[in-house]
Amino acid sequence: MSVIEGTGYRRPPYNWLTPFRSRELAGQPKKRTPHAAQGERRSHLALVAQNLVRCPQCRSPKPSHQACPHCGTYRGRQVIKIKTRRSAATT
Ligand SMILES: [Zn+2]
Repeated sequence: MSVIEGTGYRRPPYNWLTPFRSRELAGQPKKRTPHAAQGERRSHLALVAQNLVRCPQCRSPKPSHQACPHCGTYRGRQVIKIKTRRSAATT
């Protein structure tokens, strides 16, 4: 479903616009894709592990160029408020 930004308009899904019979006759692949070609195509789809660095403040691992999710600092500045868990004694 596509959205035209800022208009609130949403194009209805493809199968609403297309009657059943013509959907059957829609574009079909001319040849089957061999398993080897499929694998070659997918050879570039591997996921890469996120690069983590140590936070200079609290030493916990964090994604580089991002505020530390543990202590909420970035370049020595507090940029995120870290919610502290209420202990059982205070509730
Ligand atoms: Zn930190």
